[in-house]
Amino acid sequence: MMFTKLIKKEILQRLVDAAVQASANAFHPITPAGVGAAVLTTEDEIFSGCNVQTTISGLGVCAEQCAIYHAVANGKYDYKAVAVYFPSKKFIKPCGVCLQLINEFAQVVNKDIIIVMINNQKKVRFTSVNNELRDAYGPRTSGRDLSAYVKNK
Ligand SMILES: [Zn+2]
Repeated sequence: MMFTKLIKKEILQRLVDAAVQASANAFHPITPAGVGAAVLTTEDEIFSGCNVQTTISGLGVCAEQCAIYHAVANGKYDYKAVAVYFPSKKFIKPCGVCLQLINEFAQVVNKDIIIVMINNQKKVRFTSVNNELRDAYGPRTSGRDLSAYVKNK
């Protein structure tokens, strides 16, 4: 799949900027990395998020989850892409939990979702949730078609 053809250049730039800006607001007293993420809806709306860490194990949230919950809180469930900015030279993929969450929404609307990895030089690399979690467990494998649920919201 040619991911770059699926997102207009100026929209991609806005998505990258939103993820990078959100990282500045990350609450990360435990680790040095402030991570930012941004969700692009099929209507080209952008919702950002950042990682939030707590001293209680398991209570924090990844930036990608925060961005998805931000979109959900605004009534948006149909996503074209999820971008994640990790301040390192390497391109870092979402963790397994975030991939599973992205996969849930991909299966809800029965579409692949592009994953945009942004490094500390603001360069981008693409993959997709279907590439990363082929045949993963989700709503459809458990026999649930949630597309009607989303349409009726
Ligand atoms: Zn994660």
